[in-house]
Amino acid sequence: MSAPNNPYDPVGVSALEPDAIQAAVDAALRDIAAASDLDALKSARLAHAGDRSPLALANREIGALPPAAKAEAGKRVGEARGAVRAALDERLADLELERDARVLVDEAVDVTLPTRRREPGARHPLTTLMERMCEVFIAMGYEVAEGPEAEAEWFNFDALNVPPDHPARTMQDTFFVGSADSGVVLRTQTSPIQLRAMLSRELPVYVVAPGRVFRTDELDATHTPVFHQIEGLAIDEGITMADLKGTLEHLAEAMFGSGVRVRLRPSYFPFTEPSAELDLECFVCRGASVGNPESPCRTCSSEGWIEWGGCGMVNPRVLRAAGIDTERYSGFAFGMGVERTLMFRHGVTDMRDMVEGDIRFSRAFGWEV
Ligand SMILES: [Zn+2]
Repeated sequence: MSAPNNPYDPVGVSALEPDAIQAAVDAALRDIAAASDLDALKSARLAHAGDRSPLALANREIGALPPAAKAEAGKRVGEARGAVRAALDERLADLELERDARVLVDEAVDVTLPTRRREPGARHPLTTLMERMCEVFIAMGYEVAEGPEAEAEWFNFDALNVPPDHPARTMQDTFFVGSADSGVVLRTQTSPIQLRAMLSRELPVYVVAPGRVFRTDELDATHTPVFHQIEGLAIDEGITMADLKGTLEHLAEAMFGSGVRVRLRPSYFPFTEPSAELDLECFVCRGASVGNPESPCRTCSSEGWIEWGGCGMVNPRVLRAAGIDTERYSGFAFGMGVERTLMFRHGVTDMRDMVEGDIRFSRAFGWEV
């Protein structure tokens, strides 16, 4: 037995009864009022205005009503949902205002407090200068070569034509690693890199070798036990002194401005034959201060030239030590101190400024990284 099919039977649509609607609205308004922050309000919105909230479910039931009842039920549910939405919006506005006010207080910055900001790091001007010098040679097709700082005595001296009785090989000048007969030294020059380059590369060889070198000097205004050199080596068929001079002139112009000349003065180095001291035309006065006491030049001490480094044609004995056919190949080599280059390029007068790591010194060169 079943009950007659009464179209007004509220069993299937009890959610639409005025009491049920009112109860849903009351519950919603209570939760909305109790929401103490935006998260709680979000939960209330989901519970009372979401797809599965009582009022949304009730709204879905309207479709099941007979046409005569639809309008009234629709109006009731619509008003109820509108009331809940309005309460939600109002509470949302209040809570957002509260939050904004709180953020202003919590995140207020006292601009008068001292900062603890750390300065950005930067490369040391010696490193940047060394890289600049290398770039000049890379543009001419040279390779950058490197070698060990703890070097075999043979590479550092013997193979470079420095005999065992040479004064440079004593304890007064050279750091030995371990005992004096260990056969290992802290390299005193970057020249062993050149020899290693000759031994490890196919000819022709064009390398530039920057690096740190070590001598047993005390640190003072003009000496430091650790300093930097940059050397170049070219070995090819038909290399002459003219190629050497042209290469050095190119480097001088790249470092000190166009038109700056270099001068070679006869000298002696075991590694090269013939050898020459390398002088740079004073890039400040260009020689105008020479014999002119009216306008002295501090950069060159009014001499017009600045000693820069050494150079020469690679000694055939060195080439032969590296197994190179001296009938066919010749080469030039040159080297200069990077500290010295930095000193007169930038008017630095005390070697200690470059090694003490005082940020005030490096800062003058900018934050180049
Ligand atoms: Zn000068």
